[in-house]
Amino acid sequence: MDQHDIDDLNQKARDHLWMHFTRLGSYQKKEIPIITRGEGCYLWDAHDKRYLDALSGLFTVQLGHGRADLAAAAQQQASTLEYFPIWSYAHPQAIELAATLADLAPGDLNRVFFTSGGSEAVESAWKLARNFHKMQGEGTRTKLIARDLAYHGTSLGALAATGLTGLRAQFEPLTPGGCHVPNTNDYRWPAGRDPLWAADAIEERILFESPETVAAVILEPVQNAGGCFVPQEGYFDRVREICDRHGVLLISDEVICSWGRLGHWFGCERYGYRPDIVTTAKGLTSAYAPMGAVIVADRIAEPFMSGKSMFAHGFTFGGHPVAAAVALANIDVFEREDLCAHVLAKEGEFRQRLESLRDIPIVGDVRGAGFFQAIELVKDRETKESFTSEESEDLLRNFLSGELYRQGLICRADDRGDPVVQLSPPLIADSEQFEEIETILRSALTKASDRVSGGS
Ligand code: PLP
Repeated sequence: MDQHDIDDLNQKARDHLWMHFTRLGSYQKKEIPIITRGEGCYLWDAHDKRYLDALSGLFTVQLGHGRADLAAAAQQQASTLEYFPIWSYAHPQAIELAATLADLAPGDLNRVFFTSGGSEAVESAWKLARNFHKMQGEGTRTKLIARDLAYHGTSLGALAATGLTGLRAQFEPLTPGGCHVPNTNDYRWPAGRDPLWAADAIEERILFESPETVAAVILEPVQNAGGCFVPQEGYFDRVREICDRHGVLLISDEVICSWGRLGHWFGCERYGYRPDIVTTAKGLTSAYAPMGAVIVADRIAEPFMSGKSMFAHGFTFGGHPVAAAVALANIDVFEREDLCAHVLAKEGEFRQRLESLRDIPIVGDVRGAGFFQAIELVKDRETKESFTSEESEDLLRNFLSGELYRQGLICRADDRGDPVVQLSPPLIADSEQFEEIETILRSALTKASDRVSGGS
């Protein structure tokens, strides 16, 4: 693309495109990064500069970019049956995909409700939990307990679960019933705290709210926002016990943590717990088409299966045949290339590359699981002192994000909690990409460290 075309696109974007979660004003003079094509773990921009996509788009492109087999599945389906709703009808792709998901999902997670993405899945799961309790004669069970800093989506219901004040404040009042409890970020816990403290905090909150008002607890296997908070040993066993004791449903929000991200089809398998409902999206299709799903245990689906009962809820594009065909092709590649095994075999090597950055003074913590890792940046490694919000803004927005991108690495420098750099490469990534990630991070983080200590 020549400079004239790039300028033209920039102007059109400035005039008409509302980029999501973007300070549009900051692009009035600065050039907008325009990505034009991808192949494997790499992307190219309008200047034909190459980037390593160490975020898989947005934790989505599990199989990597530019795959002809997934494109062919979409093309084939669009030319056979491009669309039909699953409202009182079905089509082979939605049926086959539902059966496949039921087969892959652990235990009795056997009933699949399709959505167009993650927020719709979370929204649907909460409505389903409320509806289930109502049908059991427990209509007062409406509340949803989530964790501080957790991101569960942006529609008003899902936003009530999202625990990020900065994303909520402008839209108050939210859907009533969202409650929050501490997350599992034990890097910031005082020494000697009971490892199951965060799990027990869920029970305290249920008791505080009164169990007969609580519909469900929603948790990610590894919490994304804040920077890949892993659960303590025994955390999910304790949460399951608590939920059972108080008649509360457990929703595993696996919009990011399913589809091999943690080395398993579903994140709950990694930690050995049994959710009542799983929400998923993103990697279900490797993002070659938008799709989400709510996967429901038999016990929860059962009241809806007879007589005049109905879950009075749906979306025009739920179970879209093109998206379903792409998801089936995606799962087929996962099986043929044994990608979950690849992630489990390679996660240690990937992690080791990131651990080796601990000699850089601002690297405070390295954590995560599978191909889902984060580096927390601190002002003082010994005391774990974090940056003020102004310092964090300067470090991440004014320096690090731009520097990493300039050096050809797409990842996330995030300030939704303490500052973190998140890495979540396509599941086909291997030693070559891990080395490249380490090299660029070392250079950019060293510069950032010098900047913080006043060296430049
Ligand atoms: N839940 C989790 C755990 C997520 O990470 C996200 C998005 O990142 C969502 C829900 C919302 O998904 P979507 O952006 O597809 O609506």
